[in-house]
Amino acid sequence: MTGLMSAWRAHKSGDSVTIFESGKCTGGVLQSKNSDGFLLDYGANTLSLRRKDVSDLMEELGILGRAIEANPEANLRFIVKNGKLVSLPHSLSSFLTSSFLSPFGKLRLLCEPFIAKGQKIDETVADFISRRLGKEALTYAGNPFLSGVYAARPESLSLTHAFPGLQEMEQSHGSLFKGMIKSKKDPNRLPKTRLISFPLGMQELTDHISNQLPASSIRLQSKVLKIEKIENQWRVIIQGDGASTEEVICDSVICSIPAHQLMSIEWSGLQGDELFKDLSNARHFPLALVYHGYERKNIFHPLNGFGFLVPEVENRKILGTLFSSTIFPGRAPNGHVLLTTFVGGERQPDIAEWEDKKIHSMVQDEHADLLGTSKTPFFKKIIRWSKAIPLPDQSMQTRKQAARKLEEQNPGLFFTGSHLCGPPLPSCMQADMI
Ligand SMILES: Cc1cc2nc3c(=O)[nH]c(=O)nc-3n(C[C@H](O)[C@H](O)[C@H](O)COP(=O)(O)OP(=O)(O)OC[C@H]3O[C@@H](n4cnc5c(N)ncnc54)[C@H](O)[C@@H]3O)c2cc1C
Repeated sequence: MTGLMSAWRAHKSGDSVTIFESGKCTGGVLQSKNSDGFLLDYGANTLSLRRKDVSDLMEELGILGRAIEANPEANLRFIVKNGKLVSLPHSLSSFLTSSFLSPFGKLRLLCEPFIAKGQKIDETVADFISRRLGKEALTYAGNPFLSGVYAARPESLSLTHAFPGLQEMEQSHGSLFKGMIKSKKDPNRLPKTRLISFPLGMQELTDHISNQLPASSIRLQSKVLKIEKIENQWRVIIQGDGASTEEVICDSVICSIPAHQLMSIEWSGLQGDELFKDLSNARHFPLALVYHGYERKNIFHPLNGFGFLVPEVENRKILGTLFSSTIFPGRAPNGHVLLTTFVGGERQPDIAEWEDKKIHSMVQDEHADLLGTSKTPFFKKIIRWSKAIPLPDQSMQTRKQAARKLEEQNPGLFFTGSHLCGPPLPSCMQADMI
């Protein structure tokens, strides 16, 4: 996404651009595949559209008209508490009746406007949530939510880098509640957050951006092996699908390769190449996405929501499950449903590496217990990401500084990628505007 967006911007401003992509298609982790009538997203499943500038950008790309809205039922989200699915509140009345927090936990959460502003420079997300909303909110909301978004614990994430908006809200308004009310007047905020995808899955977004570029500018199965600075230009050595290599000379290079692959490239003739150590230093955890398709009649739960997340204190082996066929249409054949379950992450990295049979049977047992699935799934598949999501943790500042210094010392060289701008798709789409 970050590479395609950079190429699109450069093309739009009149530059001649070539994308070198080692894989067989563009889009990176955004891959959508149809398998036995089930539409599977291997990477991102949803794009959360909150800001007008991102919506305008999608309009300018000509893709907004293709977006499909999440089913309103998906507003309902569940967590697991004491071994049962409990719905999260979505209004004041549901807040009062929901059992997701104890009466004391709810009272503590309602004290938020009276809590003083934080003074710490780089606080973890866990410290921020427990300071402002209380420990129970951290356990039953913060912990499962962060494992759903970043596959990580809130203790490992930096507030500044993971949720800069919340930090800004606290500092400007003294409280999140007050900030949320004020933010409704922010002209860059859409009246309502839109949760979107596309009829053919998330890959439609990156396919569409690729199609905005001249076909000759996209070189697939072209792995970058070496980048060398020569006078005022750059020599890039590419390996095609055979063993042969090719040399390309260009005026500038935008590197959007993931942090964990940066050191596999041979960098030559650069100033400050010791900075690559900091630039490539991003933590990732392995994640497995487990897809189970069922006949609708074989699941007791109405699947009337987005899905459920599992707080760590519940001691289960899955991080959470999306009710994929409830969220968007066309994800499962008629009479069937698709469940997408996340396994591993920081909490249990070893489980993401279990053999397929063991993972399927574990997920099946968890679903039988939590959702009342009565049969073995009609359809099963696992996709593994050994290094899934670069954490927006305290090392992100060092990474950004290393990138900026390398860019200053080596004119014509630029870095982008989710390890620098943050993983959510809207951040990736706006990456070089940050
Ligand atoms: C499982 C999962 C679920 C997610 N869910 C969501 C979600 O629901 N919503 C959301 O907003 N975000 C989500 N994200 C995050 C978001 O999808 C990613 O942050 C974003 O797509 C990453 O884009 P990128 O450009 O940084 O990198 P990538 O997608 O990793 O792309 C990097 C590209 O570089 C190529 N490459 C690597 N080495 C070389 C080389 N030597 N030569 C040439 N090419 C090379 C790769 O093949 C790849 O195409 C999810 C991510 C994952 C992994």
